[in-house]
Amino acid sequence: MFERKGQLFILSGPSGAGKGSIVKGIMAKRDDIFLSISATSRQPRKGEVEQGSYVFLSRESFEEKIKKSEYLEWAEIFGNLYGTPKEPVFKALEEGNNIILEIDYQGALQVKRVYSDAIFVFVLPPSLEDLRQRMLKRDSETEESLKTRYYSALEEIHYLERYDYFIINDTLEESVNKLDAIITAQSCRVDRDVLSLLRSNSWKLQE
Ligand code: 5GP
Repeated sequence: MFERKGQLFILSGPSGAGKGSIVKGIMAKRDDIFLSISATSRQPRKGEVEQGSYVFLSRESFEEKIKKSEYLEWAEIFGNLYGTPKEPVFKALEEGNNIILEIDYQGALQVKRVYSDAIFVFVLPPSLEDLRQRMLKRDSETEESLKTRYYSALEEIHYLERYDYFIINDTLEESVNKLDAIITAQSCRVDRDVLSLLRSNSWKLQE
């Protein structure tokens, strides 16, 4: 085996498209990818603290960390702040681990500016009607927040062309398989540090 840096995968898509389930599926399927835990100023939903899905902070502490440049990216979404702590991501990449961020398009665009090697994947619902139905099924939604999420989903979809890959989330298993294939394909790219392979013990190519 030869050693090289890990790869950074960004997964975005409208709320209700099923990003969370795809992430869970890929974590169960592969042991070479880790999920970045975001920080947020929003209130935890039922069971979220125990699941460790986010680090929950007050708005003040979150803003303090922005001032100290502790985030790789951050964004305000539906009135709450969300951000990716920078240090654990770069540490994981340096150690050769692949890492996945489940973040919105505003954050993805920021990552694109500072880390152009990242791979950007966009998750789409099978149709807008399907998205509306999925949003309706979430019991945490009120009529007002449903409308906000629906219109912001339409806005988010406009950014699809800035991404490298898309996954239409029809069946979960197929979507997880697609993400799995994307991760595998990326690890086989010749333009990705192939000299490390040729210099590794199995090849011993001298410079
Ligand atoms: P929710 O409040 O439903 O958990 O998440 C709302 C939105 O915030 C989702 O689209 C999710 O992908 C996005 N999000 C979660 N964590 C982050 C983050 O660290 N940065 C950014 N930019 N978006 C995030």
